[in-house]
Amino acid sequence: MSATPPCQPPASHVVDGAYREDADGAPIESVDPATGETIARLHSATPRIVEDAVACARRAQADWGNLSGAARGRVLRRAADLLRGRNRELSELETRDTGKPLSETLVADAASGADCLEYFGGLAATLTGEHIPLGGDWAYTRREPLGVCVGIGAWNYPIQIACWKAAPALACGNAMVFKPSELTPLTALKLAEALVEAGAPPGVFSVVQGYGDVGAALATHEGVDKVSLTGSVPTGRKVAAAAAGRLKPVTMELGGKSPILVFDDADLESAATGAILGNFYSAGQICSNGTRVFVQKGVKDAFLARLAERTARIRVGDPMDEATQLGPMVSEAQRGKVLAYVARAEAEGARRVTPPLSLPDKGAYVSPVVFADVTPEMTIAREEIFGPVMSVLDFADEDEAVALANATPFGLAAGVFTNDLARAHRVVARLQAGTCWINAYNLTPVEMPFGGVKQSGFGRENGRAAIEHYSQVKSVYVGMGAQASDY
Ligand code: NAD
Repeated sequence: MSATPPCQPPASHVVDGAYREDADGAPIESVDPATGETIARLHSATPRIVEDAVACARRAQADWGNLSGAARGRVLRRAADLLRGRNRELSELETRDTGKPLSETLVADAASGADCLEYFGGLAATLTGEHIPLGGDWAYTRREPLGVCVGIGAWNYPIQIACWKAAPALACGNAMVFKPSELTPLTALKLAEALVEAGAPPGVFSVVQGYGDVGAALATHEGVDKVSLTGSVPTGRKVAAAAAGRLKPVTMELGGKSPILVFDDADLESAATGAILGNFYSAGQICSNGTRVFVQKGVKDAFLARLAERTARIRVGDPMDEATQLGPMVSEAQRGKVLAYVARAEAEGARRVTPPLSLPDKGAYVSPVVFADVTPEMTIAREEIFGPVMSVLDFADEDEAVALANATPFGLAAGVFTNDLARAHRVVARLQAGTCWINAYNLTPVEMPFGGVKQSGFGRENGRAAIEHYSQVKSVYVGMGAQASDY
């Protein structure tokens, strides 16, 4: 029998408020991509685990949904405090599970999850209906939970994604069954622990592990009322189609190929920061990354020079070292995929303006790359890579910039760097993207709705807008007198 891996949880799943195992499930190994070490061994959920998770969610939801919003909010806010108190431990676990450097996870993962729990915890008591006077009669609306929601997560922000789905769902009085990515199964279990400790009744939030088949079983389950997926466009198509079989509402947070537009009047240093963070943070594994950087022709050379100089200074290394700025990709498979895109870019004529950085001997590392001379037809300008690969293109004027930016089936995000106030708002209004930034990039505070248009998805997470996607409105007409009839 091999030794217990260093990050082994007590069991694979949390169902009905307690850890549960079913060793008949297919094995899942969590591998630290910086070292190749197996850090946890788990099992994919068997049908029995899925059935139990959905059944206990149904049971728990009835009472949870009947609590006052204030009472539900208190649980969420206590869970937020618990995550904050455990931030270092959670960040270290997230770093080992994903490979993202501790310098990021300490500030961006459990911390943003806690913000989300706190925000929706505060909002829970404010969720009300409306009074509609109709002369003598009147009507009112009730904002009601949907029932049992399923959350399915991607591997790039595991605990953040779990919180972005659980917090609004629970605030609205739903129960949630969450399936993390099979690549990063660990921190969602910690969220379940925190919620149970904070007083969430058993079954209100369960975590079941598994591959796509478990996600599909949940998405089609007749005991499930809503599905929220964070993942790729191809998976989104499958999940939306499966949910459509039972006409379940879905939230789809999918991929992107987002543009950053840099006008010649912009603060170039700030725009370079936006482009660098918007391509290399989390080793480029961010859905909203601005992977197509369009620079106005007059400033392109100066901009490329700044990008090359600053990219050369990025500290790549052991993600557990707080000085490290860029860690490995989540897996060897993802590394291979990214390197294939880099090779393809070179074959198609893109010009690499950044020399390869020196990388650790082992681990799924990829050197960050800036490509110049990229044209819109090239593969790297069209497909989501999900790695540290920036494409720089150019444009002559505002109309061309907008046309190029919108020439994609994706519509997740976009950024505009300019010091011309009127132009900033004019351009943003024309961009086909769910989330836009002006003179900033990739900032996603919980107060601001986040989500995509076109093939990047639909529905919104965060902000008050998320409430619309985790609740339904019941209209009640109240007749104050006898009913009249002509026949
Ligand atoms: P993925 O689509 O491969 O997997 C996402 C999740 O779906 C995983 O949990 C997976 O097990 C599950 N899944 C796979 N097949 C399924 C099926 N048939 N039915 C139900 N569930 C199924 O995505 P990934 O590789 O884990 O993550 C990267 C992708 O996620 C990128 O495209 C990225 O842009 C996207 N993403 C989007 C956002 C956003 O908010 N828009 C955020 C993060 C990541």
